Amino acid sequence: MRRPFIAGNWKMHKTIAEAVDFSQKLCKQAQQFTGGKDILIAPPFTALSSVAKVIEGTGIHLAAQNTHESPQGAFTGEVSSSMAAEAGCDYVLIGHSERRHLYGETDDLLARKVEAAWKSGLKVIFCIGETLDEREQGKTFAVVEKQIKEGLKAFKEDDIERLVIAYEPVWAIGTGKTATPEQAEEVHALIRGLQKKLHGAAAADSLIILYGGSVKPDNMTELMAKENVDGALIGGASLDVESFLQMIMFDKPE
Ligand code: PEP
Repeated sequence: MRRPFIAGNWKMHKTIAEAVDFSQKLCKQAQQFTGGKDILIAPPFTALSSVAKVIEGTGIHLAAQNTHESPQGAFTGEVSSSMAAEAGCDYVLIGHSERRHLYGETDDLLARKVEAAWKSGLKVIFCIGETLDEREQGKTFAVVEKQIKEGLKAFKEDDIERLVIAYEPVWAIGTGKTATPEQAEEVHALIRGLQKKLHGAAAADSLIILYGGSVKPDNMTELMAKENVDGALIGGASLDVESFLQMIMFDKPE
């Protein structure tokens, strides 16, 4: 049985004070859910250390939203994965569609970022997903297959403990248009099938696959009811602590 996993990606939102306030409120409820579920928040870099202090000992995970592929160097404006780990992160988001599409991050670059993150001891939430054009041309699975094969080419069976895949159709991110539970399940099942083909049944069965794209309290339950949807990566609706708490409390049917 895979543990449900709910992650909040705050993108470029929240001051340090706002991030600390959110985290304190979240921690008050933490005991109710951290036993049975993995909960993660991904604040901006500036708030990581402060949030890490607040959530220490609660079991809540902390993620950076991006890290560089090199351990250090003359890369103005960048942050390495070991720096994120030192700030208190245990995860990093790699390949978010905003990084792929706004900053031109390629599968090859993302493969190097994944390797660097793993070398620094971070676990990776690897984001994949097709654009609307690609979906309309019937290329959805070819796109996610290429993103997985190329971005995760360093993957070995043992890495299953440090990998989460987030399927986030680009047309559903921040648009208010959610994939239907059936559309999400179809792609999640294909991703699990691909993992089985590439790395065997054990790696496929334990792979955590999140859905992301306009998840909100009112569509969470129906999405999470699908067999291959193990949790959610939530952007906009994770910024409000009450809304995030409502989404954490969902029950996944046995
Ligand atoms: C995201 O940022 O990964 C995301 C899914 O955003 P939203 O929930 O706002 O669509």
